Amino acid sequence: MKVFLKKLMILLGSASLLVLILFVSLGYIKRPANHKPGRPAHHAENAFRNPWPTFENRGFGDLLKWQWDRLRGKAPKKPQRYDFRIAENDGQFLRTNGKQFTATWIGHATTLIQIEGHNILTDPIFSSRCSPVAWAGPQRVMPPSPSFENLPPIDFVLISHNHYDHLDKPTIKRLGNRPRYFVPLFVGNLLRNLGIANERITELDWWQTAEFDGLQFHCTPTQHFSGRGLHDRNQTLWCSWTVIGKQNRFYFGGDTGYFPGFKEIGEKFGPFELAILPIGAYLPRWFMSPVHVDPKESAQAFLDLRAEKMLAIHWGTFDLADEPMDEPPRLLRASADSLGIDSTRVLVLQPGETRVVK
Ligand code: ZN
Ligand code: ZN
Repeated sequence: MKVFLKKLMILLGSASLLVLILFVSLGYIKRPANHKPGRPAHHAENAFRNPWPTFENRGFGDLLKWQWDRLRGKAPKKPQRYDFRIAENDGQFLRTNGKQFTATWIGHATTLIQIEGHNILTDPIFSSRCSPVAWAGPQRVMPPSPSFENLPPIDFVLISHNHYDHLDKPTIKRLGNRPRYFVPLFVGNLLRNLGIANERITELDWWQTAEFDGLQFHCTPTQHFSGRGLHDRNQTLWCSWTVIGKQNRFYFGGDTGYFPGFKEIGEKFGPFELAILPIGAYLPRWFMSPVHVDPKESAQAFLDLRAEKMLAIHWGTFDLADEPMDEPPRLLRASADSLGIDSTRVLVLQPGETRVVK
């Protein structure tokens, strides 16, 4: 009976993942769009595109092949459970800290960055699933820490793109109109539909900049894609964020493949005190590499950006790809070693852990 239940749970788990994959990926049927003459290289007819030679489009057939390979047991075996722990964080320090430059990993791509007296959340998701529906889709294996209730007042929210694991409607609704939201082109509509006032939203194209309360917010590129449903593939832009204060600066990478943009951003805006970079959702490589870095590429991106410290994100929270969920930090440590990066510069935190950056 127990074995039967276990099998049923696994089946339901894969079914829920399939629901999400189908929702998000059916746009794969569409062909990649061509560059729109007279516009920036990432603007296409009615869509956006990745303009670098490092990008290769993956079609619907590739998606089916990936799923077929999984069904045939070709993906690496994953452990039944993980020894993940969260750090209790009651938010007390974060609520009283007005001075120090700190970084807290809350889970997935959600971080709290305190810089020059401002509280900034990145890609906030506090829901238990990243999915179009509340009853199915990838479920978090670790709760967020600190909890939403224990957050300090949030001044700014950075959104990198509209995928479910980066733009979570219930979380945005809870944050409401207190923060100012920075979003890439055309993502503002979704926020407005959730009741966020237009004057609280700053919507930018790559290389555009806005300044508020002594901080510069630069919308910088990533090599990725967007879409939440059947008909909106690449209709909204994806990006990273470069935030520059009077003394300190950080880079938030969102979701991205390895691309020449890291060097360009490093040359233009570096050196950074902190680079927040994704390390998970990279297997199988043949399918994922155009849009998701692996840990080694992430470590290389950290060097390209000319950053002093790296905070690893986008792992250990939602099971989104074929690698075991505890593999990314191990590979990151090994890659950092092989690239000669001192281990003290690489922050692999538990959700809820806060580090003083400077
Ligand atoms: Zn994404
Ligand atoms: Zn993601």
